[in-house]
Amino acid sequence: MSSSAIGLCWFRQDLRVTDNLALTRALQQHDRVLCLYVHENLNDPDPPASCWWQQRAVQDLADQLHGHLLYRTGDIQHNLQQIVAAYAVGAVYWNRLYDPVSIARDTKLKAWFSEQSVQVHSFPGQLLFEPWQLLKRDGTPYRVFTPFYRACLAQGLPGDVVPMPDLSRLVPVTDARAQIEQDSLTAAWTQSFRDQWAPRRQAGQDRLAAFIARDMPVYHQARDIPATGQVSHLAPYLHSGQLSVREVIAAVCDRPGADAFVRQLIWREFAHYVLYHWPHTLDQPMDGRYSHFPWRTDPTALQAWQRGQTGIPLVDAGMRELWQTGYLHNRLRMIVASLLCKHLLIDWRVGAAWFMYTLFDADLANNTMGWQWVAGSGVDAAPYFRIFNPVSQGKRFDPDGAYVRRWVPELAALPDRWIQQPWAAPAELLAAHDIQLGCDYPRPVVELAAGRQAALAAWEQMKTSAVLV
Ligand SMILES: Cc1cc2nc3c(=O)[nH]c(=O)nc-3n(C[C@H](O)[C@H](O)[C@H](O)COP(=O)(O)OP(=O)(O)OC[C@H]3O[C@@H](n4cnc5c(N)ncnc54)[C@H](O)[C@@H]3O)c2cc1C
Repeated sequence: MSSSAIGLCWFRQDLRVTDNLALTRALQQHDRVLCLYVHENLNDPDPPASCWWQQRAVQDLADQLHGHLLYRTGDIQHNLQQIVAAYAVGAVYWNRLYDPVSIARDTKLKAWFSEQSVQVHSFPGQLLFEPWQLLKRDGTPYRVFTPFYRACLAQGLPGDVVPMPDLSRLVPVTDARAQIEQDSLTAAWTQSFRDQWAPRRQAGQDRLAAFIARDMPVYHQARDIPATGQVSHLAPYLHSGQLSVREVIAAVCDRPGADAFVRQLIWREFAHYVLYHWPHTLDQPMDGRYSHFPWRTDPTALQAWQRGQTGIPLVDAGMRELWQTGYLHNRLRMIVASLLCKHLLIDWRVGAAWFMYTLFDADLANNTMGWQWVAGSGVDAAPYFRIFNPVSQGKRFDPDGAYVRRWVPELAALPDRWIQQPWAAPAELLAAHDIQLGCDYPRPVVELAAGRQAALAAWEQMKTSAVLV
């Protein structure tokens, strides 16, 4: 039965009207529904790249709602208090988030709503399964990916998509699209994003359709080759919730190449699951021994890494792509992360923070798991002694140097043999191509063999310190 009190639908990381259970249920339960988005961090003087995406995605959401989106900025609780009072809200609807920061905030808000006699209804929307739904036989959560993956498949992947509801009963509000546009970030470094990405739901759907038709059949082989770009590039759409993971599963299932792709979507699921069950892993190592790791502080090396000036071409190519496009191919995420926390011995949390600042798909769960995996401290992680060598990775995954040539043009003229390791090229060859190392392109910030030995020694030191405690 429909209530005459207003239902408030609070959008967060679910910026779509299709397959949005909170919105659909609110419209089923209430004669009138008010849609809300609150941009909390708008006053950040140095906002992360993902804010650029989020702001445009909110604008797109306002379009999907025909402008009927109440848009607010600033403190969430303060805004909710005002809105509940001003609109006589009877119940609030949202789709759940599972990271510890969101859970703490939502728990506090629920208590406050309850004091105001406002009901709260929350729904699944971000994942395929609720994190408490899948447990081992002994009732504890999975720590290893493959059994978790099998458990997901055994459960049956939900591919049901909730259709777009009738939006005619939305509470009309002053159209905020001009305001959202005005608030959209104009930092100079975001200029380069504009031509490359369209943060609109329709663009995400088009990308998904093109990926299914063209790249998914070869995804299992091509997903490791950064130069060809045969991956979906859907991460920012999934992170903002412009596309739901259920919609993606429904679209890909039974199509050629789906298995390998679905496996990656289940890695996403696993990352959120792990962070839900072990919230301390947001900034603490899952493997407690790593609390004793002798991390180094080296601002010069860190800056060289951030700016793509390490003198190691594949790493520099990745870091430049990240800075200029807000995206980085998964293989490169692993390679650049490995150089930072192994060869350079810089704490994975420092690298994770840089990714959170520069990635459009910056996602607490996926990013934390990715970094802990590379550092060796995470759940089901790569062992520390497995250290990526960027030169052999380049020879294997960028054999003709196409990826390096695109992002490190100062080396483009070098033959394939030397493109991944210009420091090893004969001096006369470098001179013939007008390349002076240390001038046109940096010398390596770390000698790779020595960096590897230092990393292994630090690992031994950590193990000894952990035993002694
Ligand atoms: C150090 C490190 C940091 C990372 N940080 C993030 C992050 O902040 N946000 C983020 O979304 N992903 C992160 N990843 C995971 C992965 O690199 C990206 O999801 C992927 O590269 C996004 O590109 P795509 O959409 O083209 O991926 P595709 O290969 O097309 O994969 C499809 C989708 O599957 C999911 N997925 C794929 N690989 C992984 C993975 N290893 N872990 C979790 N989910 C995965 C993503 O949602 C992705 O969009 C990180 C990985 C590493 C190693």
